[in-house]
Amino acid sequence: MTNAILTACGLTEAEVTGGTLAVRSPIDGAEIARVHETPASDMPAVIARSQAAFRVWRELPAPRRGELVRLLGEELRASKEALGALVTLEVGKITSEGLGEVQEMIDICDFAVGLSRQIYGLTIASERPGHRMMETWHPMGPCGVISAFNFPVAVWSWNAALALVCGDPVIWKPSEKTPLTAMATMKIMERALKRFGPEAPEGLVQLVIGGPAIGEALVASKDVPIISATGSTRMGGIVGPQVAARWGRAILELGGNNAMIVAPSADLDMAVRAIVFSAVGTAGQRCTSLRRLIAHNSIKDDLVAKLAKAYASLPIGDPRQSTTLVGPLIDHATRDRMLSALESARAEGGTVHGGQTVTTGVPQGGAYVTPAIAEMPGQTDTVRTETFAPILYVLGYDTLEEAIAIQNDVPQGLSSCIFTLNMREAETFLSAAGSDCGIANVNIGPSGAEIGGAFGGEKETGGGRESGSDAWKGYMRRQTNTVNYSAKLPLAQGVKFDF
Ligand code: NAD
Repeated sequence: MTNAILTACGLTEAEVTGGTLAVRSPIDGAEIARVHETPASDMPAVIARSQAAFRVWRELPAPRRGELVRLLGEELRASKEALGALVTLEVGKITSEGLGEVQEMIDICDFAVGLSRQIYGLTIASERPGHRMMETWHPMGPCGVISAFNFPVAVWSWNAALALVCGDPVIWKPSEKTPLTAMATMKIMERALKRFGPEAPEGLVQLVIGGPAIGEALVASKDVPIISATGSTRMGGIVGPQVAARWGRAILELGGNNAMIVAPSADLDMAVRAIVFSAVGTAGQRCTSLRRLIAHNSIKDDLVAKLAKAYASLPIGDPRQSTTLVGPLIDHATRDRMLSALESARAEGGTVHGGQTVTTGVPQGGAYVTPAIAEMPGQTDTVRTETFAPILYVLGYDTLEEAIAIQNDVPQGLSSCIFTLNMREAETFLSAAGSDCGIANVNIGPSGAEIGGAFGGEKETGGGRESGSDAWKGYMRRQTNTVNYSAKLPLAQGVKFDF
């Protein structure tokens, strides 16, 4: 089974054996590959190749660069099943989410192809006669992409599709937990590059495999002007200042602690469906997973009872089976962190439902759990910490003002939502005095964003934006141009300097 999936993705025996990095499937903990790590001593050459590629790629017209991304989208469509199956094998996502991740890659390619014929700048009214002002966007240089295990391929595509049409080469350092999906994606990229032909320079898209040390080589290099880093706030706290210290540009996509406010007027059946998907989907291992439920005290008990009933019916097990909705956690250490967070929640006065290790009816060797609901007396330290597992903390509120204050009173600022049929409440939640997150939704959950919007969050989530809207500006440098087509040289602000 494993071999068939690896072969379908074009990975050879030599590539997946004999290396120093062991890859385990979270489904059963079995070692499925030993891949070769990039020696740290190779990093200067990798970066030099990227710089050389930049000098060629930046001169190709953007719509032509878009053609490469169009071909990548085509190749991804052809490989969707194979790559989706590998996402399931390497990360433990249920089949439909594995396929959904590849679909997201296809979607961003489509977006980027359209973008390649836009990349608009402004024209600006000049105060001087016979003058014209405008903004031009230029390629910036190599973009280092450091990605997390939980979206092992989609995050790369959000960055790569935009970076490539913007004229930037890409160097990708995937999570050390998910090198196989990255290697398989590179095979797809290579097919697109081959079809595109010789206009794409060697080294335009590179993959480096290894742990934080390999990422640090990118982070430290002045020749990698953009670092897009996705992962924990702990990682971002190291990477962000290092990039800033060398005057690089960091796009940080870090941890979240996402909340839903459920108001008295909410459609509770719809809210329950949204809560269960966003708290339990991907076994609670999305950056946008719902972690805090802030329910009006008049409906809280009813809502928790409905949720407990829904949780009891969730099929937990092998993510490859079509009936499964909750697959494994990425590893046993994550399961241990979940159990320890629940212990802390109990010690803080919480009442916990679920949150047990599951050993029957699931593949042996994987870390399977029943998702947990923890009713909390208040927003304790445990609630304010992101635990990357399916724990839903429940808090009560009486006034919307109080609910919004609770929602915002955490260090992270990624995603948020409100369920209400009251227009004043919905608009207040979206207003300047409402949610302080990068994403704020009404009557849908906090997870499962579309690629058309800019994705990212505030505060300790890092402030980066990727994917849709004008996130492409993060991959380019802005130039302000003033052109004088008159025969005079007037100075701005009426300054006189005659000699
Ligand atoms: P992680 O921080 O352990 O690792 C992420 C990546 O950073 C890996 O590739 C790792 O090798 C690299 N890394 C770690 N230390 C580094 C250093 N000092 N220098 C350079 N690179 C370094 O995160 P994880 O466990 O893989 O992923 C889970 C976390 O990612 C969660 O906190 C989740 O919320 C977050 N996440 C955020 C987003 C987002 O868009 N905001 C998306 C997905 C995941």
